[in-house]
Amino acid sequence: MSGNVAVVGATGRMGRAIMLATHQASGMALCAAVARAGSTAIGQDSLALAGITGEHGVVVTADLEHAASQADVVIDFSTADNALPVIQACINARTALVLGTTGLAAQAEAALEDAAGVLPVLVAANTSIGVAVLRHLAAEATRLLGGTYDIEIVEMHHRHKVDAPSGTATMLAEAIADVRELDPKAAAVCGREGRVGPRSADEIGVMTLRGGEVIGDHTVHFAGAADRIELTHRALDRSLFARGAVHAAKWLVESRPNAGRYGMADVLGLKTP
Ligand code: NAD
Repeated sequence: MSGNVAVVGATGRMGRAIMLATHQASGMALCAAVARAGSTAIGQDSLALAGITGEHGVVVTADLEHAASQADVVIDFSTADNALPVIQACINARTALVLGTTGLAAQAEAALEDAAGVLPVLVAANTSIGVAVLRHLAAEATRLLGGTYDIEIVEMHHRHKVDAPSGTATMLAEAIADVRELDPKAAAVCGREGRVGPRSADEIGVMTLRGGEVIGDHTVHFAGAADRIELTHRALDRSLFARGAVHAAKWLVESRPNAGRYGMADVLGLKTP
């Protein structure tokens, strides 16, 4: 089975990587590349934009509705402001959606719930397969170790990153809090300074490092009375996220799940402990 993919955010770092990954994936074809209205890329060849020479792809457009109507699946890695129109275009066309854009507003989150009522939507702040496995292992380790180990998450990203902690670190903390039946917002301790007192058993430390060009490192520490376990994921190349997004799109096309909200764990068939 072959899946037609529309990429939204075609001019961005991730958009270009996703167009390249779609071109390289078997059984997937780029049918539309959407840039913001007024972009100088409109009218350009999508493959040239993705860095492929000697071949012709589709022409970059700003027509989101038409792109969604042509596609089996839309992959959006653009901006949080653009999430609402993307979700609405997918609802109108009844086209499956992979949403990798982060920092969504409450209105977009609500629209995603509406969309999940009528079509399959896969939402992932991190589309790397490795991080989906790390999340699963961290939840499983939390379950196996019980409440006797202190759990702390350390993340490091490049100096340009504007938000902290990373969405992935927050997602890991939520998965751990879920197993421990804690409120994730109350349990997460993001940084410590001064006389904060002894650590409570129910807190999950989430610490942030920034520097250089680090793409994304996450370590979950389990500290017991007499031993420690550390689970680490290091992203070495941004193409990791693009390949994961295309893998998720292929899963939507091939397994044709019912309308609903899905994540990378569903793509990998990982059962929450
Ligand atoms: P970027 O700034 O390089 O690209 C965003 C692109 O979206 C820009 O080219 C911009 O022109 C375009 N855009 C803006 N409005 C648009 C519109 N209305 N229609 C179409 N395109 C529009 O950013 P990036 O590094 O490519 O990241 C994009 C998003 O993906 C961010 O939200 C980022 O946090 C997220 N991201 C997610 C993952 C993941 O694994 N899920 C990984 C990396 C980045």
